[in-house]
Amino acid sequence: MKILSFLSRASRAYKDYPAYSKLLVICTLSSGGLLAYSESGPDTGTAGVETDKKLPKKTRVLVLGTGWAGTSFLKDVDATLYDVQVVSPRNYFAFTPLLPSVTCGTVEARSIVEPIRKMVKKRRGEIQFWEAECVKIDALNKKVLCQSNIDNDLLQKGEFSLEYDYLIIALGAQVNTFNTPGVAENCHFLKEVEDAQKIRRSVIDCFETAVLPSLSEDERRRNLHFVIVGGGPTGIEFAAELHDFFEGDLVKLYPTVKDLVKITVIQSGDHILNMFDGRISTFAEQKFKRDGIEVQTGCRVVSVSDKEIKMKVKSKEEVSSMPHGLVVWSTGVGTRPVVRDLMEQIGQANRHVLATDEWLRVKGCEDAYAIGDCATIDQRKIRDDISSIFKAADKNNSGTLSVQEFRDVIDDIRVRYPQVDLYLQSKHLSDVTYLLKDDQGNDRQEVDIEGFKLSLSHADSQMKSLPATAQVAAQQGAYLSRCFNLWQQCEENPEGPLRFSGSGHHQFLPFRYKHFGQFAPLGGEQAAAELPGDWVSVGHSTQWLWYSVYASKQVSWRTRFLVVSDWTRRFIFGRDSSRI
Ligand code: FAD
Repeated sequence: MKILSFLSRASRAYKDYPAYSKLLVICTLSSGGLLAYSESGPDTGTAGVETDKKLPKKTRVLVLGTGWAGTSFLKDVDATLYDVQVVSPRNYFAFTPLLPSVTCGTVEARSIVEPIRKMVKKRRGEIQFWEAECVKIDALNKKVLCQSNIDNDLLQKGEFSLEYDYLIIALGAQVNTFNTPGVAENCHFLKEVEDAQKIRRSVIDCFETAVLPSLSEDERRRNLHFVIVGGGPTGIEFAAELHDFFEGDLVKLYPTVKDLVKITVIQSGDHILNMFDGRISTFAEQKFKRDGIEVQTGCRVVSVSDKEIKMKVKSKEEVSSMPHGLVVWSTGVGTRPVVRDLMEQIGQANRHVLATDEWLRVKGCEDAYAIGDCATIDQRKIRDDISSIFKAADKNNSGTLSVQEFRDVIDDIRVRYPQVDLYLQSKHLSDVTYLLKDDQGNDRQEVDIEGFKLSLSHADSQMKSLPATAQVAAQQGAYLSRCFNLWQQCEENPEGPLRFSGSGHHQFLPFRYKHFGQFAPLGGEQAAAELPGDWVSVGHSTQWLWYSVYASKQVSWRTRFLVVSDWTRRFIFGRDSSRI
């Protein structure tokens, strides 16, 4: 019996850890110890389970989502300290910045994804993954209801619920159609890997249809008119990729229709890439003009049918329409239904995204944290706390603050209210005592509460919400895992700033975002980059910087190798236009 049970365990171990197991089998066989081991070895599996039962229950941490935020948390959290579970309808992490490259076959879909089980297996401690969708968060009872998305008769309804002590909501956001009629039915989106694969097939479909002998010239033109709604980074990158695909590969394969191809970008604002520095918007607009990509700014799409897109120019009231072969809708993000439902439960129904405090705790929902695109930090205004800050700083209760008293608390103020630093930076000031100067710029030895209010309240004008980007999501996930790992340590020795409206210190430092810059690939081996310190770079060298940054940011050596080899394959052989 023991031999049988050993063999069945060995076969399971072989499947789970093939490399280690092969090594073990070779070593054991060569020493002739296999039989001896099976006869005399302790039944470690059962003993292990029994020991586990005696251990005190670990705190349960449930993570919803395996995108940038969720994965970044899972990569760093110490799973020996917590019972960590993850729920997501996709069992992989997708490197979204390369999704536009997947739409035209510059990079293959499998090169930018990494199985989540593989990522968490490298961790110390065990993390359990459930491939399912969270359909309801019951904040009151600390439970989530999940629904498996695997279509299998054995699963029947496939519903299950999970309880948690701490919940990490990293559910991202969904496409926002702004309820524009026909968008959901007739447009492509570019949010998931499947969307990119679908666009790749549809682009080729448009070309194959356009060359069929039965079509009129107007029908060919319509089929080859590609419209992108939204002039943000995703829409612009897709337009540039499509243009490169056409110029580099398709023009040779479909020579009879090469003069009928048209790419149009519709943007509601006055410029494309308007979240970037003005120099980058101008460069992109000029480049697109040279490339023959039409940019229509100040237009709002009012409806989309399978053959036509209707829009209104903002300055005029009339509606114009144009025929299309394919529309990609890329106009920003909206709230997922499960997040909306939670917001209604906790009194945040009037918001677009979940509000958290500076420690990423969901406001009005105990023991829940929200990170990434589904959340925004509701930064506390310094103006609202000015009296308590003054009271805490005025140690001798004199009713005024001396320069020294001010210096004693300023570090805590800067950590708790990051807008103070932003304000000083915006004024190019290095010394904080500038804040104590009077209206005429004269030094003051003491300030009263009114003077103190006046010096600090301007800082609130610098408050900005963080953008919905992978950079923010990944930093929030990493921040939160650090807090969880240092929980006990920081409970005993808090690392956070002084609590101005209370006593002692905050347990942790608040989350602080570091911006490392952003890129916009513009096609033709040219890119634009906005780097910290107002540094703008455009052109071919920036494209090489883009290649190196995106290769280095890959989540594993496997995906890094695949992405770089896809780029090399594209340079040598071009993109593959097979419709599979
Ligand atoms: P996501 O990454 O969207 O992850 C959400 C997770 O939740 C997913 O795993 C999803 O499957 C899961 N989920 C959804 N619903 C449920 C449910 N009901 N139950 C359980 N799990 C669920 N940002 C940059 O900084 N730089 C770029 O160059 C860049 N390029 C981009 C290009 C494209 C085409 C796109 C679409 C986005 C790009 N972004 C970029 C933005 C970036 O991808 C997002 O900001 C980032 O993905 C947000 O991370 P997240 O973890 O909050 O959400």
